[in-house]
Amino acid sequence: MKIICIGRNYIGHAKEMNSPLPSSPIYFLKPDTSILRTKNFYYPKFTNSLHYECELVIKIEKVGKNIQEKYAHTYYSEFTLGIDFTARDLQSECKKSGLPWEIAKGFDNSAPLSKKWLKINDFPDGVQFTLNKNNKIVQSGDSNQMIFSFDKIISYLSKFITLKKGDLIFTGTPQGVGEVNIGDVLEASVGGQDLLKINIK
Ligand code: MG
Repeated sequence: MKIICIGRNYIGHAKEMNSPLPSSPIYFLKPDTSILRTKNFYYPKFTNSLHYECELVIKIEKVGKNIQEKYAHTYYSEFTLGIDFTARDLQSECKKSGLPWEIAKGFDNSAPLSKKWLKINDFPDGVQFTLNKNNKIVQSGDSNQMIFSFDKIISYLSKFITLKKGDLIFTGTPQGVGEVNIGDVLEASVGGQDLLKINIK
């Protein structure tokens, strides 16, 4: 199983990062050891600037390569929410030096994931989601605001990487990313339905 993450997929987030808008999806991978399925996340010692990025996550259901966009919807039917934890200080160093981001993105437990999956067909008007930090909304996203749709992402990625059953795609974060600190509580929800709660320890 692999985890593919899309960067800069919302205009507001690209702007807050002072990054140009991409003309095609930007992606990076996290290893399977990034997945966190428990409620507690332990703040890693190697960063002083850990950022949350709440994202819609889709799960690939069958193997595919060179998938046409018009058929991409047949490769997934469920989504959930996850956090793309980012060591922003390490990422800034990587960006400055033109180095890969994995050190800042792919560390252990950097991808908390809800255990509950929702049917995409139950959301014909798009998925609205929110992230709360300590009971205050810090991110609001809407799948309609994505620069590249789920189908476009799948079509693009599958030109380069064979997608397999069980692969996860983190589809980018809306604006409002920010730091977490020990003691913070993150709660992610879709349409008022709580999907994910993470205690920063
Ligand atoms: Mg992200």
